[in-house]
Amino acid sequence: MNAEILSVGTELLLGSTTNTDARDVARALAELGINVYWQSTVGDNPARLTECVYRARNRADLIVTTGGLGPTCDDLTKEILARTFGRELYLDKKAEESVRAYFTERGLPFTDNNLRQAMLPEGATALPNDCGTAPGCVFRAGNVIVAMLPGPPRECNTMLRKYLMPWLRELSPETIRSHMVRMFGIGESAMETRLRDLMDGSNPTVAPYCHEGECMVRVTAKAADEAACEELMAPVVAEIRDRMGDLIYGIDSPSLGHRVLELLEEKNLSLAAAESCTGGMLAMTLTEIPGASLHFRGGTVVYTEDAKTRLLKIDPAFIAAFGVVSAQVAARMAKRVRKKLDADLGIGITGWAGPDGDDVGLVYVALSVKGQCFVRRLQLGKTTPRGKIRTRAVGNALDMVRRYLCGLDV
Ligand code: ATP
Repeated sequence: MNAEILSVGTELLLGSTTNTDARDVARALAELGINVYWQSTVGDNPARLTECVYRARNRADLIVTTGGLGPTCDDLTKEILARTFGRELYLDKKAEESVRAYFTERGLPFTDNNLRQAMLPEGATALPNDCGTAPGCVFRAGNVIVAMLPGPPRECNTMLRKYLMPWLRELSPETIRSHMVRMFGIGESAMETRLRDLMDGSNPTVAPYCHEGECMVRVTAKAADEAACEELMAPVVAEIRDRMGDLIYGIDSPSLGHRVLELLEEKNLSLAAAESCTGGMLAMTLTEIPGASLHFRGGTVVYTEDAKTRLLKIDPAFIAAFGVVSAQVAARMAKRVRKKLDADLGIGITGWAGPDGDDVGLVYVALSVKGQCFVRRLQLGKTTPRGKIRTRAVGNALDMVRRYLCGLDV
């Protein structure tokens, strides 16, 4: 099956909204083994939207639209799709009840234009909207399947994962399963070089991804049932493990932060952090994860030299002797924050995030544990954007903690 994603919304064309829905739908369809051959974006304009739908129905087996399901006059997707496929719209009673209930529960006035949201093309199956009002829908028209999802990303993603993906899964007699192998400490090209031959396989497929300084490979198999998928994937995952070794921090783990918290939990240890150039990003990364407080004690943002002295009692003469961006200062920050918060592990991060300065990209990350200190000197590149330098520094800090807790060289 091949698909086209059709994103509707003038705000997408103007660049005021990033098309994250198309990304989310593309990822979900890839998980189902559906090839996305085209993505189109069109404004809230009936003639141009009609043209896009005609084009899509001539080349795709599945059309997934996002946006334009709301109550206002510029929300045209359902009308245009219904017309293009020769369907009338009817008022779906169940959809009407849920739209009305949404307003009643929130004490909001119900205006008649909201009934537009409960109109569905004849023969369509409604897809409930658990996070908003406008239901989506899916229908078959000859050889083509049409699915419509709302624009707001949370609504779109929830409906996609909870209702559309199961509906699409039912169509295929085959089961599709995948595993994501996640790595830290290797670049995309080096990873590809080591795994290149595995990427030529067709079942399972092996696909590389790179994001925020991390590398991932998704292994996906199609078979009669889950067990058969696992059997196909097992030797390939084992081979990847063998080749990539301890660069792999997890399989199907949501993130390096999750893995670190898991390891802290296993060993019943706690962590604290003193951050300079990352300005609290490490703390944010960990505290985004529910339950982080069990093992992440907290930390301090010591951005200036003065803050390092006042909050961590680092002697100005010590900073002057080694430089504020130095292994010694990072190590002292790590040790002082560990002691101050009575944690088992302490992280210290100091560096130049740029864009101005001679040493942009130079970052020291220190990990302090009782009786030991490890320091990584990172040279992240003079022209690397500030955001990337900070993200990579945080990734390295988490990686050091992970490696220490796994008994690997830090
Ligand atoms: P609503 O009921 O909110 O009107 P809708 O399905 O009609 O939902 P739109 O009106 O097209 O959706 O978009 C609502 C908001 O959702 C937009 O202002 C935009 O912020 C966001 N949005 C729309 N399409 C996308 C997209 N493809 N990617 C990310 N955000 C989007």
